[in-house]
Amino acid sequence: MTTELSSLYQETILDHNKRPRNFHKLAAASHHADGYNPLCGDKVTVYLEIEGDVLKDISFEGSGCAISKASASMMTEALKGRSLRQADELFHVFHELVTGKEGGEPAGPAALGKLVVFSGVREFPVRVKCATLAWHTLRAALENRLQPASTE
Ligand code: ZN
Repeated sequence: MTTELSSLYQETILDHNKRPRNFHKLAAASHHADGYNPLCGDKVTVYLEIEGDVLKDISFEGSGCAISKASASMMTEALKGRSLRQADELFHVFHELVTGKEGGEPAGPAALGKLVVFSGVREFPVRVKCATLAWHTLRAALENRLQPASTE
């Protein structure tokens, strides 16, 4: 990671941890799911208001480390107003970004916007689960699963 991205990573994560966006229960939620990362103790609930095939609104609640909270916060910002297909695509692009499975450059960094700062977590494998918890929970909410999502 370049020094520039590294300090952006720090700043962005600290900012979203301190002032999480869309951090509330969604009264009109049509879907929701709970997620838990036992490795770190992160807990998150993701709420979705789906209209047709669009994520009209999205929010979250929970407690956990700065990375899990910032990731959830930035996920809600990135996905609000997107189609369900775009949300699914972004899930895969983000997952590739943080796991670094493809090596080299992440696919579609433009689509990721600020989320690209999370490429830093691939250097800390334990933190990957913190960064992906909200996204796994999102998928569980989309599938309306009754079982809580887990990173395990
Ligand atoms: Zn964590």
